Amino acid sequence: MKYFDLLNKESSNPVINEAYKYALDNNVPIITDDGLLCLTTIIKIKKAKRILEIGTAIAYCAMQMADLDDEIVIDTIERKKEMYELARNNVNNANMQDRINLIFGDALEVEIDENIKYDIIFIDAAKSQYIKFFEKFEKHLNKDGIIVSDNLLFHGLIENETDTVGKDLRAMLRKIRNYNEWLKNNDLYDTTFLRIGDGMAISIKK
Ligand code: SAH
Ligand code: MG
Repeated sequence: MKYFDLLNKESSNPVINEAYKYALDNNVPIITDDGLLCLTTIIKIKKAKRILEIGTAIAYCAMQMADLDDEIVIDTIERKKEMYELARNNVNNANMQDRINLIFGDALEVEIDENIKYDIIFIDAAKSQYIKFFEKFEKHLNKDGIIVSDNLLFHGLIENETDTVGKDLRAMLRKIRNYNEWLKNNDLYDTTFLRIGDGMAISIKK
């Protein structure tokens, strides 16, 4: 680890550290280290307590967020059964089941009680559906709430698309670019695109 990284407090929770290793060993696409620092810094500055995450995977990021403060409550949606089961094991082992509410299903089909409002919505699921996620869940965002979108540079391919990428990948890159432009032009939010992690957008509701 490099000097600057060592200055940041790391989670001492063994379940979180195991989940991190598991993700690396099994190619689970968890948030990058600097992306996580960005997200957790926003949570701390905002004193966010209620968070929605779209795309749980093994609950690595959800546990990191819940680890910040005992009052943080997270709803997180995952459509893959295998991931959902791993997430449930992790959350139970970390004893966070009271504060991380795992929802199994496709985020575009899941219904959230209309009275629930979030301080932060973290969009980190199928990249081709980001506009749909945004439009579906923004009504659950608190006044001054923030929507964070991950992977908007898609491993750098967004900026450096080579001729060799296949048709499906090209179509997805087009959708991500389309989302980025759509966000930029969405006047209801003030969006900043950060070259952090795999590219993150921070959209603050005006
Ligand atoms: N946020 C996690 C990583 C999520 S990876 C972390 O940083 O630790 C993206 C996950 O989104 C995958 O597990 C995938 O199965 C899930 N996903 C993709 N599309 C989805 C959808 N429409 N609804 C729910 N989950 C979805
Ligand atoms: Mg991601």
